Amino acid sequence: MRTVNAIAAPSATEPLVRTTIERRDLGPRDVLIEIRYAGICHSDIHTVRGEWGPISYPQTVGHEIVGAVTEVGAEVARHAVGDRVGVGCMVNSCRECVNCQAGQEQYCLAGNTGTYTAVDRDGTITQGGYSTHIVVDEDFVLRVPESIPYEKAAPLLCAGITTYSPLSHWKAGPGSKVAVVGLGGLGHMAVKIAAAMGAEVTVLSQTLGKKDDGLAFGARHYYATGDPDTFEKLKNTFDLIVNTVSAPVDMGAYLSLLRLDGTLVAVGAPPEPLPVQVFALFGNRRSFAGSSIGGIAETQEMLDFCAEHGIAPEVEVIDGDAVNEAYERVLKSDVRYRFVIDIDSIR
Ligand SMILES: [Zn+2]
Ligand SMILES: [Zn+2]
Repeated sequence: MRTVNAIAAPSATEPLVRTTIERRDLGPRDVLIEIRYAGICHSDIHTVRGEWGPISYPQTVGHEIVGAVTEVGAEVARHAVGDRVGVGCMVNSCRECVNCQAGQEQYCLAGNTGTYTAVDRDGTITQGGYSTHIVVDEDFVLRVPESIPYEKAAPLLCAGITTYSPLSHWKAGPGSKVAVVGLGGLGHMAVKIAAAMGAEVTVLSQTLGKKDDGLAFGARHYYATGDPDTFEKLKNTFDLIVNTVSAPVDMGAYLSLLRLDGTLVAVGAPPEPLPVQVFALFGNRRSFAGSSIGGIAETQEMLDFCAEHGIAPEVEVIDGDAVNEAYERVLKSDVRYRFVIDIDSIR
């Protein structure tokens, strides 16, 4: 075991604090990563505050992790010391079920092992990326292309893949019309990726406050959902709507914007159930779907795609001591567009 510096939540109600955590000794297929940056995802906040169910404390979160390999186990073949690597939302899965065999480890039927708050194979609770080092099985470690700076690569490991996967699955591309609901951490990546795929992208945001940003990220159109005319004007328009908002929305209103065989896919989750009028699905043979992160191979594909197209998240780099303040700003949507912790600040 090695003791490393970290930032952890002591309880659901206290601020995060500097502390130390233990990392396991390297197994034959493990990689030791010296973490450089860790992104702050909205899920981190829900998790440490116990809003998604009880967890054990202290808990270190963070599942947008990038850094350099500093040590490898005897049988490691995919990564070498010095490699630029990343770790996203999961660090293991059963590898045997039909979904794992299909490369969809995120949908592992035995449940994938989350990067934090999950029971690891050694029985300990996994601890996330707000720390100086992490030990991860090589199969769940991604290569970070040289052309993407570390701090910008971090949010790709959750926000990037969470939006890339549905855009790829529902074939966003030339000739397709994609709407992105919400222009936050997930939404701004959805716009950049969909535009890079060649789709005609529309942003649907509460106000026009971030319109200039949205258009600069590659959107062709930008509408305020607070304006009732928007829903009238855009009826039967989109092949795919990616809803990144975790607040409840009027499902009927959004479904009415889909054209024939269109799909509304949720990647943000409100805690309460959403009422759906089934008649809203009959018209235009519409679908309502969900999507969760992406498989390991697909996450690598996303990183390579972003490098090839020169796209990356907009980030605000902060020191470890500013995490609590950053959480408050995330909750007020006061971030453009992702906070990333400089892990050197806690080394
Ligand atoms: Zn996340
Ligand atoms: Zn599995």
